[in-house]
Amino acid sequence: MGPVAGVRVMNAAAMEKAVQLVRQARRIVVFTGAGVSTESGIPDFRSPGGIWSRYDPEEFTYSRFMSSEEARRQHWQMLKEIFLAYQAEPNPAHHAIAELDRRGQLDCVITQNVDGLHQKAGVPEEKVFELHGTMRWAYCLACGRRYPMEEVSAWLSRGIEVPECTSCGGTLKPAVVFFGESLPALVLAEATRRAQACDLFLVAGSSLVVYPAAYLPEYALRSGAKLIIVNLTATHLDVRAEVVLSGRAGEILDQLVRKAVGA
Ligand code: NAD
Repeated sequence: MGPVAGVRVMNAAAMEKAVQLVRQARRIVVFTGAGVSTESGIPDFRSPGGIWSRYDPEEFTYSRFMSSEEARRQHWQMLKEIFLAYQAEPNPAHHAIAELDRRGQLDCVITQNVDGLHQKAGVPEEKVFELHGTMRWAYCLACGRRYPMEEVSAWLSRGIEVPECTSCGGTLKPAVVFFGESLPALVLAEATRRAQACDLFLVAGSSLVVYPAAYLPEYALRSGAKLIIVNLTATHLDVRAEVVLSGRAGEILDQLVRKAVGA
């Protein structure tokens, strides 16, 4: 007998079942969280040693960012430490997902990540839906001018602690969605539509506790898609997955996609 849906095992039979699901799928939506990027050196939020073991999430809300220059200084310091301190590179998880696209099976990537590593691995820009925005840009809250993050990052390295717009002196904000801010409506609507239209929904590296992002696998399930979950730790949707592959996303997705495409 094959593995039962929801059983949390990373064995040959579970991998084989996942391989069959990927082979049969025509429209795969891959949904990623911070766990696909930890192997690129970017910490996630909730694992031991993650971002919330060093910073208090209450301090990093949109209203706090807007409240004072000191709050903005702290925000930029945290973002610099996590995302700008070095050049993160895609890892085998990102490359495996890009390979699905080259094989014509990837409908899109819906990501909670803000690091831009899916695009860097070769997934086309128009196929990546960034629910929580991106660290690739900052923009001026007064005049809207956009700045590539490399430029802002260079200012921070030179000792500017609270970057301002060089055109109008307005406040610069990274294009990430802060706590207390709405998700980009068009991105969320399109991600929802695609989740409802796919035949396979593959979650990788997400605790599935941040909403509304975590509704998307539920929409996919309700529309009849099969669910695969690849994660280090258990999620509340494991019981509804066809297969749960427990372990590191880089190793598992690399193996899964290689086997599925017969490489
Ligand atoms: P999360 O921190 O809540 O969960 C990450 C999950 O990934 C955990 O369940 C953990 O067990 C798992 N994980 C960690 N390393 C893994 C690995 N190598 N392989 C497989 N699984 C692994 O993250 P989330 O679900 O994305 O939600 C939290 C928020 O984190 C999102 O809003 C996102 O915007 C933000 N975030 C993004 C980044 C990034 O862009 N790289 C980094 C940190 C946080």
